[in-house]
Amino acid sequence: MSKIGTIGIVGAGQMGGGIAHVSALAGYKVLVYDVSSERIEKGLATINGNLARQVASGKLEEKARKAAVEHISAAPAMSDLAAADLVIEAATEDEAIKRKIYAQLCPQLNPTAILATNTSSISITRLAAQTDRPERFIGIHFMNPVPVMKLVELVRGIATDDQTFDVAKTYVKQLEKTITVSEDFPAFIVNRILLPMINEAIYTLYEGVGTVEAIDTAMKLGANHPMGPLQLADFIGLDTCLSIMQVLHDGLSDSKYRPCPLLVKYVEAGWLGRKTGRGFYDYRGETPVPTR
Ligand code: NAD
Repeated sequence: MSKIGTIGIVGAGQMGGGIAHVSALAGYKVLVYDVSSERIEKGLATINGNLARQVASGKLEEKARKAAVEHISAAPAMSDLAAADLVIEAATEDEAIKRKIYAQLCPQLNPTAILATNTSSISITRLAAQTDRPERFIGIHFMNPVPVMKLVELVRGIATDDQTFDVAKTYVKQLEKTITVSEDFPAFIVNRILLPMINEAIYTLYEGVGTVEAIDTAMKLGANHPMGPLQLADFIGLDTCLSIMQVLHDGLSDSKYRPCPLLVKYVEAGWLGRKTGRGFYDYRGETPVPTR
């Protein structure tokens, strides 16, 4: 598959929705699949809301919004993705879930279709080995929020062929994003550096060195970060943060990547950050309130 027209997205959450959004704006036809029609509809409603907000803030013309909306449709069944030239899996960061998806998905895809994953941390080579097409499997790692963030990491598995890499490069360039190439090691480049910093911020909170507000203010004003690390963790999703730390810990066998017990506790509570209304901040009121 050297030319792509239709993109399939598996997982209509924050990332899948964002990838659908930018792909449709770039002129691709987009099919969105998730575990239920409700999830798909919720994802599509979020995309529509985000596109409308871009128009309201003058970043997008109404004509472009309308065209993008027309480019995106629901794929209620996995078999609907047979029409896609490139399928991007953006489901929950859990290797067992991703494996199950590939086992179901691969027999239904066009044999020449390229399969990509948006995983933040899991080995591309290992995921590729679960599919029927390791040579046409690649990591296309978008940043959150996709419509705003300029970077995309491309990660080749050991078997990824040159044509797949070139198609992925062309696709990302079409989205007007900047590519950085990472070798296939746990968490790639951005998260290998970012997540230990976030985990350390959570240890700083856990050990009582500072409050949520003190830690975020310190890093915003003291290190010139646009967002504090705890605010950023809530934004990424604490389940995703924990999962990435576990991949680093398991993959590199170094105790410096030990997930902070406080992060584990928040995830066990279901306080996963913005997406569930509560994390290091409580988002259920008018303004976010620190939870510690
Ligand atoms: P999310 O929780 O917002 O969305 C995940 C979606 O996957 C949900 O809608 C869920 O219903 C769906 N899903 C779960 N099992 C499924 C299945 N069997 N079939 C189809 N859909 C299924 O998570 P997210 O933040 O969008 O993360 C998705 C992926 O993107 C993960 O691999 C994550 O590591 C990666 N990622 C996340 C970020 C971030 O900042 N959140 C950044 C880059 C990459």
